[in-house]
Amino acid sequence: MEPANATLLCAPLVAPTVEEMLLQMNKANVSGADLVEIRLDTLSNFMPHEDLKLLLGNRPLPAIVTYRPKWEGGQYEGDDHYRLDTLFMAMELGADYIDVELQVVNDFMSSITRKKPSKSKVIVSSHNYQITPSVEELGDLVARIQATGADIVKISTMAQNITDVARMFHVLVHCQVPIIGLLMGEKGAISRLLCPRFGGYLTYATLEGVIKSAPGQPKLKDMLSIYNIRQLGRDTKIYGLIGNPVGHSKAPILHNETFKSVGFNAIFVLLLVDDVREFLDVYSSPDFAGFSVTIPHKEEALRHCDELDPIAKSIGAINTIIRRPSDGKLVGYNTDCLGAISAIEHEMRGLFSLKGEAESPLAGRLFVVIGAGGAGKAFAYGAKEKGARIIIANRSYDRAKILAGLVGGQAMSLSDLENFRPEEESILANSTSVGMYPDIDGTPISKEALRRYAVVFDAVYTPKDTRLLREAEEVGAVVVSGVEMFLRQAFRQFELFTDSPSNNGLDCLGVFFS
Ligand code: NAP
Repeated sequence: MEPANATLLCAPLVAPTVEEMLLQMNKANVSGADLVEIRLDTLSNFMPHEDLKLLLGNRPLPAIVTYRPKWEGGQYEGDDHYRLDTLFMAMELGADYIDVELQVVNDFMSSITRKKPSKSKVIVSSHNYQITPSVEELGDLVARIQATGADIVKISTMAQNITDVARMFHVLVHCQVPIIGLLMGEKGAISRLLCPRFGGYLTYATLEGVIKSAPGQPKLKDMLSIYNIRQLGRDTKIYGLIGNPVGHSKAPILHNETFKSVGFNAIFVLLLVDDVREFLDVYSSPDFAGFSVTIPHKEEALRHCDELDPIAKSIGAINTIIRRPSDGKLVGYNTDCLGAISAIEHEMRGLFSLKGEAESPLAGRLFVVIGAGGAGKAFAYGAKEKGARIIIANRSYDRAKILAGLVGGQAMSLSDLENFRPEEESILANSTSVGMYPDIDGTPISKEALRRYAVVFDAVYTPKDTRLLREAEEVGAVVVSGVEMFLRQAFRQFELFTDSPSNNGLDCLGVFFS
């Protein structure tokens, strides 16, 4: 398929030896990179003429040569004249690009007494490892870099907040010259993924097994296979998961694959958000078409929606936001409720006696929810709607009491739950994050106490096989995995994102967890 953008994908080569760098170059070539960045400052015992000849003479892809000094975040500590002479030598030996720091570029340009090889392009770079300046300051910086005679402007700044990235997108969109504009750090990751969407000249991505040359750099294989960055164009809609943390989420794998499978022009990214209101205020353009919402923002996000789906309103928490195309209003939904309840019902059907086909297997049964956060509310509300009787057991008893009051149930503390004797055929649903990666040895209830439940459900889905579910299975309960819920809630989100029920169904989503 023809790429939808002209942004280049560059693999930085970070290695102590030329041999290793040559191996990395070939790996970059077969992995689908467009060019490599040779980081000379990472080589030990670097011998400029011999090593550059070897590296540039054997390159399977175009190359940027960078010799980053310590004062600009690199590893080179020696004399700057020697360093700049080496960069000029790289140009003479046929480097496609060289990267020179703004601070010394005037010295570099004026020290070039010989004619600049016309084939080589000069990237003039500026790095700010503390902050991302204002749009005005970024604009001034672009102008200063342009005035040096740069062929390509490069600005790399530190993201202290995901909202900082919006300023760089603004600069990319309005810049008249080729520009690389990226934000470092985990909170700047979307600048690297969405760079082709906003017209950046290139973006960097790390090869498997190679050290990142800057914090927050994504893996090259993920850029191509999960995020399909070649297909990002100005019309591509942006969706993402708002949460903190978000790194563990499999949502991008799932949503991007399903978007691709139905030919929906969209990308789904992880959005590490501290302040939901600020995030929604800053990313208010129609480009950002919808969001999934996770810990700890499900209740806060609801307050910033213009409208709520009735189920979300009753639950008091959302996990999905759609920017309605007709008027730009934010509409909140809760697909966790449907996801969890339908997963449990699906597993119970056929195993428990029902009065009729239409009756929910939850009707009339005792449903014990551990936790009283966003997911807990969704489970309690959903089970109540199906005719179950509800008990809420939570670490903070006060929160348990409030939720129990809302659904007409009973509240208890976690310690009381240990000694509680439920009636036969009761259901236990964990809605806390206890047992979630990396604390996979955690469990919210003892194995002994689990013996008293017929069905045990765990919202945690990383890992799939939680300690709670393993122990529940060992004591003979029917278990329902958080993965089942995840797939079902994501399927409903997919329908809301694409505004069309899909016939791909859960089987299509399920392949990711098989
Ligand atoms: P939340 O709103 O932050 O609520 C967290 C709940 O867990 C609160 O009740 C909290 O108790 C309790 N909790 C946290 N740490 C605890 C600990 N160490 N011991 C005992 N209780 C603890 O989070 P949420 O949005 O409801 O999400 C909760 C979990 O559900 C997460 O693991 C999330 O990944 C999972 N989830 C899964 C799916 C899925 O599709 N499978 C969907 C949604 C959520 P306090 O009130 O005392 O703080």
